[in-house]
Amino acid sequence: MTFIPPSDDEHAVAPTVKLRPEILASPPYRQGKPASPDAFKLSSNENPYPPLSGVLEAVTAAGAFNRYPDASALALREVLAARHGVSAEQIHVGSGSVALLSQFIDAAAGPGDTVVYAWRSFEAYPSLVAVSGATSIQVPNRADGSHDMEALAAAVDGTTRVVIVCSPNNPTSTTVSAAEFETFMAAVPGDVLVLLDEAYTEFVTDPDAVRGLPLLARYPNLVVLRTFSKAYGLAGLRVGWAIGPAAILDAARAAAIPLSVTEPAQVAAIASLKLEDQLFERVATLAARRDRLSAGLLDQSWNVPKAQGNFVWLATGDSTDAVNEALLGGGIVARAFSGSGIRVSVGEEESVEKLLSITGRIVESLPAGHPARRLG
Ligand SMILES: *Cc1c(COP(=O)(O)O)cnc(C)c1O
Repeated sequence: MTFIPPSDDEHAVAPTVKLRPEILASPPYRQGKPASPDAFKLSSNENPYPPLSGVLEAVTAAGAFNRYPDASALALREVLAARHGVSAEQIHVGSGSVALLSQFIDAAAGPGDTVVYAWRSFEAYPSLVAVSGATSIQVPNRADGSHDMEALAAAVDGTTRVVIVCSPNNPTSTTVSAAEFETFMAAVPGDVLVLLDEAYTEFVTDPDAVRGLPLLARYPNLVVLRTFSKAYGLAGLRVGWAIGPAAILDAARAAAIPLSVTEPAQVAAIASLKLEDQLFERVATLAARRDRLSAGLLDQSWNVPKAQGNFVWLATGDSTDAVNEALLGGGIVARAFSGSGIRVSVGEEESVEKLLSITGRIVESLPAGHPARRLG
C-alpha cells in the first residue's frame, strides 16, 4: 500500500525535496469557490453561448481518439495562413495562447533576462516568466487602467528579451491605440521580441485601437497571439495561434511540449472558422451587451474604463473583498483581485439585469471620492 501524506491542508507541509526558489515563491493556483447552481459565472471571460452544432458534429466525426494528433496542426495552420495571406510557417498553433506565451517567453528569456509588461494585466504573465527563470518588470497602468506605453518602452533595457502588450487588456478591458503602439514599436530595439496578446480583439469596436495583423509586415520583432477560447467559444478545447516571422515561431515550436494540441481542438477550430459568420453575430451581440452594461454602470456612477473586451473592470481598490462578497451574495461570480478591483465578464443576457440590480446598491455604499465612483 502506498502512503501519500495528506496535502489538502493549505500547504502546511513544506516540500521535502529541493525545489527552485522562484517556483516556491509563486502562489499556487487556487480554484474559485464553486458557484451556486443559479449564480451567473462571470469570472473567466468565457463565451456564454453553447458550441454551434456544426462544431460539435465536426468534433464527433473526428473521433479517432486512439491516434495522436497532427503534431504541427498543419490543416489548421493552412486555413489560417490562407486567410491572412502568409505561409503556414508563419502560423504556430498551441494548446491555448497561454501555452504560446509560455513557449515564446521560454524561447527568448532565462535567468538574468527581463520580461516587461504592464500591470495589472493577465494574471498568467508573472508565473510564466517565473517558470522561465527570467525576471518580471511590471509597469503600472495609467489611472484609467490602460497601458502606459511610454513607460513600457522606457522600462526596456539591455536585459530585456520580451515585452508583452495586452490589448484589450485583461482585466481592465482597455485598448492600446494604433498610434501609441506604433510610437512604442519605434522606441523598442529591433532585437527585443514584442508579443501582442490579442485574446479579445474580436470584441473591439473602437476604430483607434491597435490591430496587430496589418503591422506584422512592418515589424520583424512582432508576434501576434490569438485564441479560439473567447470569441470562438472553444475555451474548453484549448487552442490558440500565433502569427509572425517563421524564425521566431520556430523557436517557440522548439520550446513546445510535443503533441499537446489535440485533434478535436484542431478540428473544432477549423469548423469554427467555417462558421465564422454565425460566431461573429454572437460576438456582435456580446459587444453590444458589454456597451449596455458599461453604460448602465456609468449611469449608476461607477467609474468604468472604456471596455473593449467581453468584460468590464470595477476599480474597487481596498473595497474589493467587500464588493465581491456582495456580488456573490447576489448570485454573481466575478473575478476579484484583492486590493485592486473586480473583473466581470459579459455573460448571458439575464445576467446584465441581475448584475446591475446589485451594483446600483453597492456603488451607493462606497464613500464619496472612492476611486470606483465617478466624481459628480
Ligand atoms: C484568455 C486569455 C488568453 C488565452 O487563453 P487560452 O485559453 O490559453 O487561449 C490569453 N491572453 C489573455 C490576456 C487572456 O485573457
